[in-house]
Amino acid sequence: MVSIIWFRQDLRLSDNPALHAAVARMKSCGGKLLAVYIDDQKWPKASVAGAASRCWLHHSLLALDHSLNGRLLVCSGDPAKILAELAEQTGADSVYWNRCYEPWQVQRDKQIKAKFKQRNIACQSFNGSLLWEPWQVLKKDQTPYKVFTPFYRRGCLSAQVPREPLPAVDLNQDQLLDISKLTRSSIDQLKLLPEHNWADDMLARWQNTAGELQIGENAAKQRLATFLNQGLAGYKQGRDFPSQSSVSRLSPHLHFGEISANQVWYAATDKVLADSGADTLQSDLDHFHSELAWREFSYYLLYHFPEIPTENFQKKFNNFQWKANEAYLLAWKKGQTGIPIIDAGMRELWQTGYMHNRVRMLVGSFLVKNLLQPWQEGASWFFDCLVDADLASNSASWQWVAGSGADAAPYFRIFNPVTQAAKFDANGEYIRRYVPEIAALPNKYLFDPSNAPDDILQQANIKLGKDYPFAIVDLKASRERALAKFKDLGSAI
Ligand code: FAD
Repeated sequence: MVSIIWFRQDLRLSDNPALHAAVARMKSCGGKLLAVYIDDQKWPKASVAGAASRCWLHHSLLALDHSLNGRLLVCSGDPAKILAELAEQTGADSVYWNRCYEPWQVQRDKQIKAKFKQRNIACQSFNGSLLWEPWQVLKKDQTPYKVFTPFYRRGCLSAQVPREPLPAVDLNQDQLLDISKLTRSSIDQLKLLPEHNWADDMLARWQNTAGELQIGENAAKQRLATFLNQGLAGYKQGRDFPSQSSVSRLSPHLHFGEISANQVWYAATDKVLADSGADTLQSDLDHFHSELAWREFSYYLLYHFPEIPTENFQKKFNNFQWKANEAYLLAWKKGQTGIPIIDAGMRELWQTGYMHNRVRMLVGSFLVKNLLQPWQEGASWFFDCLVDADLASNSASWQWVAGSGADAAPYFRIFNPVTQAAKFDANGEYIRRYVPEIAALPNKYLFDPSNAPDDILQQANIKLGKDYPFAIVDLKASRERALAKFKDLGSAI
């Protein structure tokens, strides 16, 4: 008897409820497991993440295949068709998977379940990536929450503790079906890597000191361990400073399910308990948990409001008059706006496939408010460049920044990127790392070179407009313009 385990965004062997159930069945009834990954060719374009994320996926699949002793069957095409063919060829009578939550994935999986039911093939799905299932967290009137704090405190925390992680399954080669006679692609044939080697530099940022690429389940566990030892204590304060290593950088690992949110949640809790739960550490833990909960809230919103990747959550924003401007957008994407913290963030994104959360908020606010570009433009560039590109978190976060989302930043919250840089990158370490052409400026002028006196620029050997751009907008004037526009929107309701 063969059972199919269909890997999707759960590229790991430990705390994998679907795999756990499939193995338990195999152990009680005998038979073999067929491990499958399918590159879904019917994936809607808007949900296809960009090259950085696909590059990560390539290496994550290699790592999973390695853990499965080379017995991961990789296919490309329509999952419904491929799974049906595999069931036919191998005599499989059951398929196991962990749930995905993008609207089209929900639809696809429902259809597959219905089709397979007719053929007497049992499909069992599990929660392998969220702490709380979106449909289980509802207000008393059975409608979804729209505000984060009650969602998290009342809907999640006080209703149900998250499931504890399952141990890694004990699988040996003989229990996995020999895939040599089945039609399959190699991971290379999926063409997840870019044709040109631009990604080499990006991937180099994800290597350890021994030069090994840190992608996959083992790497995710390592990353978590490093964070627990070096970042968790002081997380609440430190997480706002982009040059510090206070954040976990687990987001791409979480996105591809190389590690589960449950593993991260409980490992952090256990660490604090082991360190005897000092009060400060407890508040770091609470804060870290609440950030994981923002991820939950994003998935929750996407599940209940599937239009959020493209449409304003708050409909009054449909009347907002953005001022589409290609030159502004290009300067922003290239990190050439003349505002150093913005340029540092956009270059970090391009060079590493990652951007620190504080800076994501700053570049988002700058694009949407100071430059009046539609948030969808920013979301789509992020989706293209991030290794952690995630439809739920990216869409919900961009709507939060724009003010158009559920529980969004209020319209009058327009970050001043100069004062923010002075506060969160006070010694200029982050800016100097990514905007080296202005590194020689003293800190006093580093955050706003356009307002530096000529002699200071001369001493630093910088000619504005040549070595580094003048600021593309006046921050004060653009802030006032945005405030007026957003205020108009408010009175238009
Ligand atoms: P940590 O601070 O270590 O947090 C731990 C985990 O909690 C993260 O890995 C992440 O899974 C989750 N998390 C933390 N903050 C948030 C948040 N605000 N919203 C949702 N989840 C959160 N995150 C993505 O994973 N993918 C995206 O595509 C994405 N796009 C974003 C776009 C914008 C404009 C903004 C403002 C934020 C976006 N985020 C996105 C959320 C957040 O910036 C990243 O999750 C975080 O920076 C990842 O770094 P970390 O793993 O070190 O976070």
